[in-house]
Amino acid sequence: MFGTVAAKKASVKKAAKPAPKKAPKKIVDRSAEILKRLKVLYPVAICELTHENAFQLLAATILSAQCTDVRVNMVTPALFAEFPTAEKLAQANVQRVEELVRSTGFYQTKAKNLIGMASAVMTRFGGEVPREVEDLTTLPGVGRKTANVLRSVVFDLPGLAVDTHVGRLSRRLGLTIEEDPVKVEYELNALFPPQDWGGFSLRLILHGRRVCDAKKPACHSCEFSDICPSSEMPRAQMAKSAGSRSKK
Ligand code: SF4
Repeated sequence: MFGTVAAKKASVKKAAKPAPKKAPKKIVDRSAEILKRLKVLYPVAICELTHENAFQLLAATILSAQCTDVRVNMVTPALFAEFPTAEKLAQANVQRVEELVRSTGFYQTKAKNLIGMASAVMTRFGGEVPREVEDLTTLPGVGRKTANVLRSVVFDLPGLAVDTHVGRLSRRLGLTIEEDPVKVEYELNALFPPQDWGGFSLRLILHGRRVCDAKKPACHSCEFSDICPSSEMPRAQMAKSAGSRSKK
């Protein structure tokens, strides 16, 4: 089952610290245009990790470190069939979990983190996956990226996950020059309304996977080629593409 990001109603009190400085107007304007086009290109902001609840998405996101979602989705059905809840996974034999997650890479660390996460959810959070970034990031294997995925996809709370795609595209699109994911997150948070944080991140990930590849960005077929400072399209072609877009 895919997760979706709908309208966010919840409080943004503890979502993230604001960026320290205000972005220049041209970046604010460009970010608004990018968000507008992303919503047209990807009407449904989907998380491509298969899950049915917060515990499953948390486990799947831990497994997704240095691994594709496709590969994670191949191993989680067997993992969740054997360990369907945090309670069961907390009592799992580490070697058995290692066997189940081996193909996702770094399997020994991931197995240890999965069992540690499940134990912490049971002992410190009464069996419920917490919602606040400050609590989520105390769990083994969980950083801000994973915490923000959880917040936006399953809890419908503001959370802008900065993975490799979001970092790369944000820099290529000229929204930030930061390399540190936490600094990128704070800068992007300042550019968009909290209710759009999760959707922006999920849609940018989709665009990174489908169009703006790390090694071979498909600028010729990219909807942002006329406003992207990194576009590899010749200027004349960009103007033509912008013209045809405005006639749509
Ligand atoms: S124009 Fe090229 S570099 Fe810019 S976002 Fe599109 S694919 Fe990426």
